[in-house]
Amino acid sequence: MSRYWSPIVRELVPYVPGEQPKIKDLIKLNTNEHPLGPSPKVIGAIKAELNDSLRLYPDPNSDALKSVIADYHKVTPSQVFVGNGSDEVLAHIFFGLFQHGQPLLYPDVTYSFYPVYCGLYQIEGQAVPLDDDFVLRVEDYRQPNGGVIFPNPNAPTGRLLPLSDIETLMQHNTDSVVVVDEAYIDFGGETAIKLVDRYPNLLVTQTLSKSRSLAGLRVGFAVGHADLIDALERVKNSFNSYPVDRLALAGAVAAFEDEAWFKSACDYVIAERERVATGLESLGFDVIPSAANFVLARHPDHKGADLAAALRQRSIIVRHFQKPRIGDFLRITIGSEAQNAALLDALPDIV
Ligand code: PMP
Repeated sequence: MSRYWSPIVRELVPYVPGEQPKIKDLIKLNTNEHPLGPSPKVIGAIKAELNDSLRLYPDPNSDALKSVIADYHKVTPSQVFVGNGSDEVLAHIFFGLFQHGQPLLYPDVTYSFYPVYCGLYQIEGQAVPLDDDFVLRVEDYRQPNGGVIFPNPNAPTGRLLPLSDIETLMQHNTDSVVVVDEAYIDFGGETAIKLVDRYPNLLVTQTLSKSRSLAGLRVGFAVGHADLIDALERVKNSFNSYPVDRLALAGAVAAFEDEAWFKSACDYVIAERERVATGLESLGFDVIPSAANFVLARHPDHKGADLAAALRQRSIIVRHFQKPRIGDFLRITIGSEAQNAALLDALPDIV
C-alpha cells in the first residue's frame, strides 16, 4: 500500500493464477493447459511470420482471424470480437456491457476472475448458489440484474449445462446481457453460439488456450450480436488498439485451419478424462461429472489441502481452492497419458 495508489487500487482483490513453477520435471496438473503441443501447422505459421514484418504493428482489427472464426462458427465477422486471451475479452465485457447499476449474477462456485473484474470496474456482483450437486438452476436467475455470466462447462466444477437450459434462461432474461464463457466447451459440450442469432443479448466467449493448446499465445474471442461486439470494439479502441500481435494472429488463424489436429487432441483429452475419473472413483474419490479438461474430486477421508500437499511432495501439482464449498476438493487438469498414470499411481499411497 502506498499513498500514491488510487482509491480503487487500494480496494482491489486481484485474481491469483495457478502457479507456473520454474522447477523441472513437475507433473503440472494445475492450470488446465493441454497435455499435447499445439498443431504443427500453428508452429509453422508462427515461424513463417518471424521476419522483418515484426517492425510493423499488427492489423488492429484482426480481420483475418475474425474471418476464420466467423466461417468456423457460421456467423459474420461483425459478430466476432478478438482479444489477448478470453480474460481480456471478459474484462472488456464487464466494462462495456455490465455497468448498469444492478447486480451482475454469477454462480457461487465459478471462475474466480468474475468477482475480480467486478472490483476493478466497480460492478456489484451477486453470487447465486449452485444446488448441492453444483448444478446451475436457471430458475434462480429470474431476478432483476445488470447481467448474467457463467462458464459452460462451469469451472472449477466441470459441470455442463444443457443448451436447452441456456435457451430457457434467455427467454426469461431479455433486458440484460447474458455471457456464456465457453473456455472448456470443446471437451464435451454444445456451443451456445448456435443461439446468438435468436437472442441479441447473448454473448459467447471462447479461448484458444485450452482445446487448441495455445495458452502461451493469448488469444480469445466473443461471438454475439453486432451491437454487442460494437461495444467491445469501442472499449478495446479506448484501451489498446493492438491486443493480438502478429505471431498470435498467424498462429490463431492456422489453429482454425487444422480441424484434424483439433478433433484428435480433444478426443485424446476426453478419453483420458474418463480414465482419470474412473481411476479416482476406484480409489474412493467422489468425482463431479466433467465436460471439461479437468475434474473436481474429493476424498471422504482426506482434506483437500492435505491431498494437494502430499501430491506436491511427489512432484505432482493440482489446484486446491481454500474457498467455501470446494475446500475439500482438488481440481485436477487432465494431463498426458503418462502424467495421468503417475497421478493414479501416486494416490493409493496417499489415501
Ligand atoms: N474462463 C474460464 C472459465 C477459465 O477457466 C479461463 C482460464 N483461466 C479463462 C476464461 C481465461 O482463459 P484465457 O485468458 O487463457 O483465454
